[in-house]
Amino acid sequence: MNVTNRLSVNVGGVKIGAGAPVVIQTMTKTRTRNTSTRNTPARNTSAIIDEVARITEAGAELVRVAIPEETDLPVFAEIVKSSPIPVIADVHFNPRIALGAIEQGAAKLRINPGNIGSTNNLKEIASKAKERKIPIRIGVNSGSLPTYILERFTHPTTDAIVTTLSDYVKMFEDFGFTDLVVSAKTSDARRTIEVYRALFEKFPYPLHLGVTEAGLPFEGAIRSTAAMAPLLLDGIGDTIRISLAGPAEQEVEACWELLSSLGLRTRGPKLIVCPTCGRTEIDVIELARKVKNRLKEIKQPITVAVMGCVVNGPGEAREADYGIAGGKGKGAIFRKGVVVKSIPEGELVDELVGLIERDLTQ
Ligand code: SF4
Repeated sequence: MNVTNRLSVNVGGVKIGAGAPVVIQTMTKTRTRNTSTRNTPARNTSAIIDEVARITEAGAELVRVAIPEETDLPVFAEIVKSSPIPVIADVHFNPRIALGAIEQGAAKLRINPGNIGSTNNLKEIASKAKERKIPIRIGVNSGSLPTYILERFTHPTTDAIVTTLSDYVKMFEDFGFTDLVVSAKTSDARRTIEVYRALFEKFPYPLHLGVTEAGLPFEGAIRSTAAMAPLLLDGIGDTIRISLAGPAEQEVEACWELLSSLGLRTRGPKLIVCPTCGRTEIDVIELARKVKNRLKEIKQPITVAVMGCVVNGPGEAREADYGIAGGKGKGAIFRKGVVVKSIPEGELVDELVGLIERDLTQ
């Protein structure tokens, strides 16, 4: 089946699917409780709220929060109340937590139907979500396929993953619940591409794209990009998370960088930086770091080039909205293709940033 009519969901006012801009999301990493004593949990509510604020500032449009225990539901309720962006409840194993999260104002629920109990439990969750008009993401992970699937397919192959998801989706459709987002994550880039191409053909539902357990920030960002870029360029993927073993803000920055590199979304300055070589006579990397840091509050989609020398420097800098092209201990500042001035290296950042800020506030 080739699905042509793509569906969408509404997550607390954020549209996912049916041609809407690809939505960026991440997940909080602060532990829900800061003690292992389950009976008297000291809760990290304010730390999670702070993390949500940082994530929002970085550009996340949705945030997912894990609710490990039923006793954590009051924490979740506080986060929902204070969050500037819609909050998704991440629930495993216990259907009562899923029902409680919906009651506490979750904008969307993320569950793996394989670990949350009986069909009746799932039916009750679907019914409650329908009553509150919130979507459910059915997320399958290649590492946790059900036994009957592994007996049939032996390994978590693409067919095994897609069949698992098909069974779950059918179950929800039989409940009369179609406010769905689907995902099937693996830690392998090629497998991810194969699986999502199959899901796109099979389901009209919005797809949550991601590579699970992608790794430390450097490797994780590359692996996620390797998997997601070909899909996104083909219009496959309606919301993305880049899962990194690092701060959630980095996940959000990586998502923006990926979407902006593909020309799908823009937010804030795009930095072009030469890689430096034996010709470089100014500290390009330090200059670029400083420029990036000084421009982080800017939300307008401008292009800023920081280049080391006259070989490619002025050319690239002229193509950008703003730029620096280095010389021997000095550099030229460009704006829209025109040299504004040549000044000593130590003055370049202040001058460039000042120029950009003046232009953008005019
Ligand atoms: Fe080297 Fe100049 Fe190219 Fe930078 S712009 S890598 S300094 S040749």
